[in-house]
Amino acid sequence: MTRESIVDGVNQGITSIHGLIAQGRGEAFDYLIGEKSTESALKAEKVAAAKLLLARKPVISVNGNSAALVPDELIRLSELINAPLEVNLFHRTEERVNKIIRHLRNRGARNIFLKSDARIPGIEHDRAKVDSHGIFAADVVLVPLEDGDRCKALLDMGKTVIAIDLNPLSRTARYADITIVDNITRALPNISGFAEELKCLGQEELQDIARGYDNRQTLSLAIDEIKKNMESFVDLSKP
Ligand code: ATP
Ligand code: MG
Repeated sequence: MTRESIVDGVNQGITSIHGLIAQGRGEAFDYLIGEKSTESALKAEKVAAAKLLLARKPVISVNGNSAALVPDELIRLSELINAPLEVNLFHRTEERVNKIIRHLRNRGARNIFLKSDARIPGIEHDRAKVDSHGIFAADVVLVPLEDGDRCKALLDMGKTVIAIDLNPLSRTARYADITIVDNITRALPNISGFAEELKCLGQEELQDIARGYDNRQTLSLAIDEIKKNMESFVDLSKP
């Protein structure tokens, strides 16, 4: 079903053809982590929810894969934590940006940053375009499936970056402040669930949850999980 959503996204002009390659890489890593939200991913998701609730100007970046796979979950989280959506494409065309905005609006999104009047410094032309009141001004950005160079450029701007990336070895995974090594299809509902649970807490209690979080440990636990699964695959010679 997930694969069909991505293919539909490509056919509708929402997802770039390159999105198929990213999906394939994601599927391979999902297989290796056991196609489940691991304990360390759940911890990162909880810390991410706390950070998003603590943020002054949180923004959720939307690309062609996430718009095809989880449009409703993106809108739900956006409403829950009061973080507008912003379409932010690696292979950017105005036509595709507008198609994604229409797709999100048709599904009920009300809060979307629409302008492309600012640039992320250090990134080449079209890939750098952002809204001056959106990602450009945000203190915390949630980037599902971001490219490594742009992730680094957002960090260089002083932002807190929360990435969702099934590949714990990618540059994005290693650069981000919080890396959620989980499929976006599971990660977004999990973050929303935590946000609902934590919403009633005060600033200090939220800070307690986020304090001491160690992203290197999250990545190392994800790699341990992969190793463990690979060993069990070898033990079982037949499925
Ligand atoms: P980097 O630029 O960070 O080194 P990359 O060039 O290998 O990584 P990109 O194509 O820039 O990867 O980004 C796509 C990333 O998204 C991949 O790491 C892939 O594992 C991940 N990915 C793809 N589909 C999903 C999904 N459904 N959920 C979570 N992550 C996914
Ligand atoms: Mg890349």
